[in-house]
Amino acid sequence: MPIDPYDIQQWETTDDGSELNPPNTYCENCAYDLRLLRIVGACPECGQAYNFRSGEQGVFQPHLVEPPVFDIFAAVSCGLLFLWLASGLVQAFDLWTLIFTGIFGYLGWTFGRQAHQRLRRFLRAQKIINRLIDDADEPS
Ligand SMILES: [Zn+2]
Repeated sequence: MPIDPYDIQQWETTDDGSELNPPNTYCENCAYDLRLLRIVGACPECGQAYNFRSGEQGVFQPHLVEPPVFDIFAAVSCGLLFLWLASGLVQAFDLWTLIFTGIFGYLGWTFGRQAHQRLRRFLRAQKIINRLIDDADEPS
């Protein structure tokens, strides 16, 4: 049966009370479908440990992954401020300019790394969603 990518996401519980991953749960590393496996475990495909209970470590749900608009905006803003301050520093050295150059350089780097990670996650999620839609379109 094809999965609706927009299904509601709750832990499933078996009769003996153990909690299982909801249908739209995938390994963050290899995108293996982890539905109905224990919510804490290791991916059968690549072996990465995951823990759905504590902050969705190692797993992701494609329909909940959003494009990292804020992270990209923050990275670009901080990067531009860094360049502007750094160019001022070259013209006339000033301790405060140096301090703010360091701060915005650090922020730009941090947001940039985060934006990169989230963008990759987002693109992978889109791939999975497209695959699910293709599967659903195929006549069975
Ligand atoms: Zn995996």
